[in-house]
Amino acid sequence: MLKNWNFENSYLELPNIFYSKTKAENFPKLELLLKNEDLMVTLNINHENFDNLLLETIDNKELNSFSQAYAGHQFGHFTILGDGRATLLGEHINANKERFDIQLKGSGKTPYSRNGDGKGTLKSMLREYIVSEAMHNLNIKTTRSLAILNTGQKIQRETYEEGGILVRVAKSHIRVGTFQFASLSKKQNDIKDLLDYTINRLYPEIVDEKDKYLNFFEKITDSQINLIVNWQRVGFIHGVMNTDNMSLSGETIDYGPCAFLDEYNPNKVFSSIDRNGRYAFNNQPKIALWNLARLAETFLHLIDSDENIAIKKIEHILKKYETKYKDLWLKMMKSKIGINQDHEKDRNLIEEFLDLMHIFKLDYTNTFIALENNDLKKYSFMNEWISKLNLRKNINKNEKENKYFNPNIIPRNHIIENVINECKVGNYKKFNRFISLLKNPYNSNIPEEFSKEPSNEERVYETFCGT
Ligand code: AMP
Ligand code: MG
Repeated sequence: MLKNWNFENSYLELPNIFYSKTKAENFPKLELLLKNEDLMVTLNINHENFDNLLLETIDNKELNSFSQAYAGHQFGHFTILGDGRATLLGEHINANKERFDIQLKGSGKTPYSRNGDGKGTLKSMLREYIVSEAMHNLNIKTTRSLAILNTGQKIQRETYEEGGILVRVAKSHIRVGTFQFASLSKKQNDIKDLLDYTINRLYPEIVDEKDKYLNFFEKITDSQINLIVNWQRVGFIHGVMNTDNMSLSGETIDYGPCAFLDEYNPNKVFSSIDRNGRYAFNNQPKIALWNLARLAETFLHLIDSDENIAIKKIEHILKKYETKYKDLWLKMMKSKIGINQDHEKDRNLIEEFLDLMHIFKLDYTNTFIALENNDLKKYSFMNEWISKLNLRKNINKNEKENKYFNPNIIPRNHIIENVINECKVGNYKKFNRFISLLKNPYNSNIPEEFSKEPSNEERVYETFCGT
């Protein structure tokens, strides 16, 4: 077990337009509230002395910490952004030589803060901790949460709220927006430097390939398809799929007004700021594609010196997106309803099931579990569909059943709120219980209290950025 960080900040080798050296603000009453011991094992960091290690690192004046510059399309509008409230302490390398960004989120102002205070509420950090760890345990790529600190400071939002810092861990924080930022630079080499750096860091296996830039784009495309199909599998709505919130590592990043579906509605939007439903549940695959097109635009000239040829090559990949997405989605949904082998009507069968769920306002998670447990018969309106499913199952081959596709527990909004309210009065018992249940989401022994769909009074209809 490593006792200390093994930092090596390769990002600082990029041209200096890409970052600013920053430090966390001084918080005299900074205190560690929560730590993630499982993640410490992955990082090979010793948990016994972690409290001191973290506080000393944050305090260390010699540390080469920095904030990243980026731009982004926010709800379709292009803006220059950057880490307005985050400081990257360092890139930690574990015993397996894997590299992880260790970042403080909510640590105070940076040169990119614009009008913000650089801080975050403890509530929003607790929320990110719960949801990101839940996503990880659902086998979905995501940034992770190593710890939460209480800043001991009140910050002004709608009311005064306690301030918090999340220690976020990511394979990298390079986003589509980082490329958009680079493409604005007058220096031609900046975008190439970023591209080479990203390939080196995230896809070292293609470094020597002749068409590495095009292959890189295809890899990013595939990783997004995989990610979004998994979001749809568990009913996750990201809520702010701006290009600055799409990570090139293929990890889910930035848990703001995100939420999981309770009752199934393909057009569901939770986020209070998403007035036009741009980031609605069923729009997610289309938006990812739109974001990928924004990424491709930034390095077209490196794909081919002839712009028309470059566009053709990119279009070829983007056109494949739709088919690949549909195929992977179908495969995933088939596993959710327990069918294998292929039949031309499989897609119809699944869509019919989803339509019934939509019309009768059934809970997304629990209905798939009911199906898995042969418990759908309780809904008479499902009878005809069940017969079709049973008939279809005749062509199934005996394959090992894959239970991994239907979780028994997801972090439902009303439960997150309830758990966080308990934390606010200093009671972390329920939080810890929730986190421990979310560690095994495919376990069928989940207490009703945590798996039941919300009653009408409990239901959360809208989520807020709550930054
Ligand atoms: P997000 O919605 O979290 O993706 O943030 C969008 C942009 O706003 C990013 O550049 C953030 O760094 C910045 N931002 C969010 N909250 C704050 C804050 N409290 N202070 C300064 N910048 C912020
Ligand atoms: Mg963001």
